[in-house]
Amino acid sequence: MTKSQELIEQGDKYGAHNYHPLDVVISKAEGVWVEDVEGKKYMDFLSAYSAVNQGHRHPKIIKALIDQANTLTLTSRAFHSDKLAPYLKKLCEYTGYEMALPMNTGAEAIETALKLARRYGNKIRGIKDGEQEIIVCEENFHGRTSTIISFSTDPVCREGFSAFAPGFKIIPFNDTKALKAAINDKTVAFLVEPIQGEAGVNVPSDGYLKEVRKICTEHDILFMADEVQTGFCRTGKKFACDLEGVRPDVMCLGKALGGGVFPVSAVVADRKIMKVFTPGSHGSTFGGNPLACQVAIASMEVLEEENLASKSYELGEYLRSELKKIKCPKLTHIRGKGLLNAVQFVTGFEAWNTCCALKEAGLLAKQTHGNIIRFAPPLVITKNEIDIAVGIIKKVFEKIN
Ligand SMILES: *Cc1c(COP(=O)(O)O)cnc(C)c1O
Repeated sequence: MTKSQELIEQGDKYGAHNYHPLDVVISKAEGVWVEDVEGKKYMDFLSAYSAVNQGHRHPKIIKALIDQANTLTLTSRAFHSDKLAPYLKKLCEYTGYEMALPMNTGAEAIETALKLARRYGNKIRGIKDGEQEIIVCEENFHGRTSTIISFSTDPVCREGFSAFAPGFKIIPFNDTKALKAAINDKTVAFLVEPIQGEAGVNVPSDGYLKEVRKICTEHDILFMADEVQTGFCRTGKKFACDLEGVRPDVMCLGKALGGGVFPVSAVVADRKIMKVFTPGSHGSTFGGNPLACQVAIASMEVLEEENLASKSYELGEYLRSELKKIKCPKLTHIRGKGLLNAVQFVTGFEAWNTCCALKEAGLLAKQTHGNIIRFAPPLVITKNEIDIAVGIIKKVFEKIN
């Protein structure tokens, strides 16, 4: 038995089976590359669901982590730390919002936004508490908490987990008519991913987000963008909403904010909205801890200093144009923005074996749905490395019959 097989068996024995990973056991990583326990190298085309936009173990981010670990790691919010205020300022400047609320995971950022919207509806709009409604989209992915899965349309996420939270209305994605029709006096917010990542990199029609912005403004409801996966330069702009030049009222952030080393999430909004949170109304023991603050500052600085937004944009265009040259009759769609991309095969195609073949050939990617594979490498990837990756993908795809 190989070391990998041994560790996989051990994990299966002691760990809950809530994931179905590829048979690869990674023990090292740098930049775009990861290495398994047998010493085989792979290109990482998942980037931990876009948490590793800055590349694995970016030296600047690792330095920030180590330096801070040697100084101060946790105070809780019962006291101030010298790192929190500078981090909040940096995050507000980076995102262009007046205030930020720090949490840890993406799901917590979404939970925070949902609470924010309900309280805003109650305190500012005067809607009776308990009657607030939030509109969400079919095929959304916003995380795994009980409230969030209450409005998931994926049966796998929900089965056996009721009771579900009320107060959500589900409409089709990329459908502004449905949005207008769903709004009533009780509606407080529309929560949407600007590009649906988990659903298979569903890019909405041009103008969708602009129209959403207009509708939300007209009806005085909060436009809340889940930029957990699409944010921080993944789609070729700082945020996917920037692709259409729209500014949501609330943004949920996570993943790459932690630079691939640490869970860091946040909600950003302007003061007139964020002010509804009062002492004791929300919080998190680890939210805004000094280690997270320093890691997140470094993570944002890396994105800026290395121009990763424009790099992501240009290399994304290049990657898609190269993928389009691959001859594979079962391949039906190649889509994406920046370096958030997906390839889609004919209906009914099961891409698991293709992901296994890609792995054997030296590239790690995972299907989002049965017939869709996401290609989202770290944004520090070079053109030369894209060529290597496309070579691997071509070799595997051209064998599909
Ligand atoms: C990953 C993700 C989340 C949840 O983030 P966690 O850190 O896993 O809780 C929420 N929304 C989107 C769009 C995501 O991709």
